[in-house]
Amino acid sequence: MFAPHSFSAFRPARSPFRCLAACFRAPICAAWLAALTMLLARPSAAQEDRRPNVVLIFADDLGYGDIGVYGHPTIRTPHLDRMAAEGMKFTQFYVGASVCTPSRAALLTGRLPIRSGMASDGRRVLFPDSRLGLPAREITIAEALKDAGYATGMVGKWHLGHLEPFLPTNHGFDSYYGIPYSNDMDRVAGGEWQEIFWEPKSEYWNVPLLRDTEVIERPVNQETITRRYAEEAVAFIRDHAEEPFFLYLAHTMPHTPLFRSAAFAGHSKAGLYGDVIEEIDWSVGQVMQTLEEEGIAERTLVFFTSDNGPWLIFRTHGGSAGLLRDGKGTTYEGGMRVPALAWRPGAVPPGAVNSALVTAMDVFPTVLGMAGVPVPDDRVIDGMDIGNILRGSDEDAHDMILYYRGERIFAARVGPWKAHFITQRAYIGDDPVPRDPPILHHLEHDPSERFDVSADHPEALEEIAARVAEHRAGLDPWPTQLDARIEE
Ligand code: MG
Repeated sequence: MFAPHSFSAFRPARSPFRCLAACFRAPICAAWLAALTMLLARPSAAQEDRRPNVVLIFADDLGYGDIGVYGHPTIRTPHLDRMAAEGMKFTQFYVGASVCTPSRAALLTGRLPIRSGMASDGRRVLFPDSRLGLPAREITIAEALKDAGYATGMVGKWHLGHLEPFLPTNHGFDSYYGIPYSNDMDRVAGGEWQEIFWEPKSEYWNVPLLRDTEVIERPVNQETITRRYAEEAVAFIRDHAEEPFFLYLAHTMPHTPLFRSAAFAGHSKAGLYGDVIEEIDWSVGQVMQTLEEEGIAERTLVFFTSDNGPWLIFRTHGGSAGLLRDGKGTTYEGGMRVPALAWRPGAVPPGAVNSALVTAMDVFPTVLGMAGVPVPDDRVIDGMDIGNILRGSDEDAHDMILYYRGERIFAARVGPWKAHFITQRAYIGDDPVPRDPPILHHLEHDPSERFDVSADHPEALEEIAARVAEHRAGLDPWPTQLDARIEE
């Protein structure tokens, strides 16, 4: 053991060099050198900050059945599969809405979109002529973590308001690189939409690429966008490896029109859609590899999920919800239940498959909890801290899931029972159909929502109706922000 009195207490006048020289001659030198090494190797203040980093990866319109570990037979996703093998896979993970804008608002605020004005029965998402965006009064994950000293960066699709007051750098992100809305907006090409989407070219859409608040490329070259997002993400991680950081990487793909870089052309057996997913998978691998090279994988939570289910009207360009019914835009399971993977070596138990009811809104309080940041108490947060679940507890987070379509509740799930009060397909022009009695499914027995058992279980319908009424009674919606146009 180190014995300081051997040198410093009894020979205070010696110079460090003479001391060191003497050390090599002294029998106690090994202990002294060990102490010196420890002193020099003592972590800096930044290294001592053990608050975990968070990388939140969000795919766009990726369905429940679109990656290998969720059962796709021909799309190869070795990096996402590795996340599952070394981390946790959720089988009943729900988003806050089945289309882009409200789903993203729910993810970043931990709140149902109806509470932030990001839900509408008129326009379901924001468009390039939209005048508003996520209200300043909302607190995003980035804002909460930035206030606590985190470096915050966003790469990718925002879709919470493209005018300057609503951009990521005005919602808690230090930096932004990405496309502010969907990649099929700002269409400038004429002709049949099927041809345009089936053989897309970047110049068919006048989509901008932003650096912070400045347009740096328009139309953006969409073929290279997934690769460039990965490069930006890697650079952000390397730049901030010595401090706690939050990176939100929101892919523009696989939202149609589909693009992939030359390196992934013909990469997949599953055609163009498969190429796109396999490039996203590659980018996930880039993130994991960078965290490992920087030596920070064990103090970084990587969470991967999607904003909503597959866009089925685009057929083979639209992905798959696997065994779940329907897709994007609907309140069927395929619209709102998506893949979700958590990876943090040494913290999230490897190979865990979790069927707890969890939601994208849980990310907000969970991440804040990990960072030691209090969850705001001046507003309703619909998410719950699932830190215990990520550590391996099999407790349930929620016992109720609400399926909003715009400002209305179309369905609700309590435990295994899901009641559909209104049904409507997406994007094919049919009208909403009120259901009285509601359609009832037992989702654990019937995940594909095939068999209506409402006649046999009136008690389940009564309980769900009571829970929904209770929710509605306490609801204080914020006026919708989605319908206002710039021309108005
Ligand atoms: Mg989407």
